[in-house]
Amino acid sequence: MAVTQVAANLYRIPLGIVNAYLIDHDGLTLIDTGVPGSAPKILAAVAALGRRPADLGHILVTHLHIDHTGSLAALKAATGAKVWMHAADAALVREGRCARPLLPVPGLLPWAIHTFLMGDSPPIEPVETDHVLMGAAELPVAGGVSAIPAPGHSAGQLAFLWPRHGGVLLVGDAAANWRGRLGPGLVFEDLDEGGRTLLRLAALDFQIACFGHGSPIVGDASGAFRARWPGARRPAASEL
Ligand SMILES: [Zn+2]
Ligand SMILES: [Zn+2]
Repeated sequence: MAVTQVAANLYRIPLGIVNAYLIDHDGLTLIDTGVPGSAPKILAAVAALGRRPADLGHILVTHLHIDHTGSLAALKAATGAKVWMHAADAALVREGRCARPLLPVPGLLPWAIHTFLMGDSPPIEPVETDHVLMGAAELPVAGGVSAIPAPGHSAGQLAFLWPRHGGVLLVGDAAANWRGRLGPGLVFEDLDEGGRTLLRLAALDFQIACFGHGSPIVGDASGAFRARWPGARRPAASEL
C-alpha cells in the first residue's frame, strides 16, 4: 500500500523501516523523506491522492538521519518544495552528512540500527534548507504547524504539532511505537536530553501520535505518553 489514511487529511507512507507522512491542507506538506531511493514511492503516494508533484509545497524534516533525509534532495528537485529543518541538523545536511556519534539503548535492535546509522552508508546528497529554524516556531504551512525542539536523539530534532483532530504530534524518532509498543527511540546522541524531551512532549495535548518507526497511535495519544513517561510537565516558555 503506497499510502494509508491516519485521519482526515493525514496520511502515512510506509517506506520499509521508516514512515513519512503527508498532510493534505493548503496544498501538500510532507514530513520526512525515507531512505535514499524513496522518492518514487512518495511521489506515487502523492499521485494516489490525486495530486501532482508540484502540489507538494513543503517538506518538514524531523532530523538529519539517513532514513529521514535520504530522499530529500530528490524530492526537492522533483517538486520544488521548500525544506524546513532545525539549524543544528541543517548544517550537516547541507554538507551531505546525516549522523553524529550515537549510542544504542540496550538490545539487539538498537544495536542493529546503530550499526546501520554509523556504518559505511554513503553520505546523502547535500540539501540546502530553505527555512532554517533556530528553535520553537509557528510554521505557516498546512494551516499552521508548531515546530517543537526535541533534542536527544539528534541535537536538531524537531517534533511537529498540527492542531487538527485534537492535536497530531509528529514525533520523529523522539519516541517509537515498534510492534505497537510505545518506547523511547532506540539510539541517542544524548540519552539524558532525550529523556527530558519525552517528558516535555508528554505534557502536550494530542490525540494522534505519528512516529518515524512504528504505527501511529490514534486516540488519546498524549495519555499513552503520560502513562509511559510519568512525571511529564509542561515546559516553561524559556525551555522551548
Ligand atoms: Zn533517527
Ligand atoms: Zn529514524
